[in-house]
Amino acid sequence: PLRGRSALVTGSTSGIGLGIARALAASGCDVIYTGFADDKVLAELQEDFRKYTSVKATYLPADLTKPTDIETLCTEAGKHCTGGVDIVVNNAGFQHTSPIDSFPLATWDAMMAAMLTAPFLIIKHLLPAMKTKGWGRIINISSAHGLVASVEKCAYVSAKHGVNGLTKVVALETAGSGVTCNAVCPGWVLTPLVENQIRKLMKDHNMDWKDAKTMLLSRKQPSHGFVTPEQIGNMVNFLCSEAANQMTGSVLSIDGGWTAQ
Ligand code: NAD
Repeated sequence: PLRGRSALVTGSTSGIGLGIARALAASGCDVIYTGFADDKVLAELQEDFRKYTSVKATYLPADLTKPTDIETLCTEAGKHCTGGVDIVVNNAGFQHTSPIDSFPLATWDAMMAAMLTAPFLIIKHLLPAMKTKGWGRIINISSAHGLVASVEKCAYVSAKHGVNGLTKVVALETAGSGVTCNAVCPGWVLTPLVENQIRKLMKDHNMDWKDAKTMLLSRKQPSHGFVTPEQIGNMVNFLCSEAANQMTGSVLSIDGGWTAQ
């Protein structure tokens, strides 16, 4: 159903972004994938995307904390996509945990840059072509932490609350134009970002992997099960479908009940 469309998915060398890029490719969408990765991972990804026959998958590098990289990424992405980028998924992000009194300013700045300023700049850059075409999809991968808070995550929670606000403004400014903008708020997904937090629990509580995983889930996620990158990919596919033409400005949870509490 997405054949002939092109998507830019940030942070798609790993985890949720990779799940989204694969789901889009499986729907026939050409994909620009970007994010940090060494040569070995890049070779594996290239091989992986070859599975989706007649889909063009292109890797473009960018450090999203750097506005000049973002500009180059958007310009290059536009060149690689016939007729411009149709779908943007702002997904790249990372976590740092620390109480606010010892939270480093440089880390705060980097997290804001990658998770709030980068989506702003990417939308700013790619929206005009979408408006001209009269069709576009902007999907911001936020978090349960875009709706509620947790201790020791001041920058992450602030950036994710911010991205939900950005989503709503862009939805209002594009209403009726054929472009939609929505946010997806996942609960725990077992990716490297969360594996780091499980390792921290193992250390802090002298636990094994299995017990730390159970503790992480049971503190926040009533389903006690992880959301998967494939499920989020399917949600993004739905938001890109014609069935979602009138869905815009929505902040959609996929969190095993986390924010129902
Ligand atoms: P991940 O660590 O598996 O992947 C993160 C991706 O972002 C990687 O491709 C990485 O290279 C890229 N990235 C990080 N910093 C970057 C930078 N400065 N420039 C360019 N690329 C950069 O993590 P994930 O869990 O898949 O997270 C993806 C998104 O989902 C993030 O925005 C995260 O906040 C959000 N999220 C994750 C969870 C979860 O439980 N894993 C829950 C809710 C929301």
